[in-house]
Amino acid sequence: MEICLASNNQHKIEELKQLLGNEFIFKTLSDIGCFEDIEETGITFEENSKIKSDFVFEKFGINCISDDSGLEIDALEGRPGVFSARYSGVHGNHEANIAKVLTEMKNLENRSARFRTVISLNLDGETTQFEGSVEGKINYEPIGTDGFGYDPIFIPQGFDTTFAQMNSIQKNQISHRAVAIKKLVAYLKQKK
Ligand code: IMP
Repeated sequence: MEICLASNNQHKIEELKQLLGNEFIFKTLSDIGCFEDIEETGITFEENSKIKSDFVFEKFGINCISDDSGLEIDALEGRPGVFSARYSGVHGNHEANIAKVLTEMKNLENRSARFRTVISLNLDGETTQFEGSVEGKINYEPIGTDGFGYDPIFIPQGFDTTFAQMNSIQKNQISHRAVAIKKLVAYLKQKK
């Protein structure tokens, strides 16, 4: 079965390929000739990931997997949430995003937070969603150099280091993405 992975993140593509073996033929957005910037206009991870997989299925007629993730901080009423990538105003400026979060949390004692991801699978026009999350807390300062995004300020539950102090193997065992991908893989394997 051919499936488009609506992501330009090579790491995500490789991870899925490894988990699903050769049963599925993965296509990237550029493989199918999709070079448009698919606008994430939703206000939830569920909406945004579905927008992308629906767009690809409807426009290119190919089954599609897409995802949307972010950091939810309880004391900030769930922010940055779907705005995680552009919280400081500039898309993908991780340092500025972290600085904004730490400023907003300066005097806050409740540090609880989670990374959450929702994967949407559009199979023959029908959508199924798979959710994954990892609970943790926000550190008072950034520590560590591995990973990306908010990793330097996120300490997963049961650990005393940030995600940015872990190597990718450790992080990928417990991450929100790993949880959601496992559910997706189990679902796809019983479909094949
Ligand atoms: P995406 O939907 O996977 O592209 O994630 C959107 C944004 O959420 C990223 O740009 C990061 O700011 C944040 N984010 C998502 N997953 C992670 C993670 O595993 N570590 C750190 N930040 C993340």
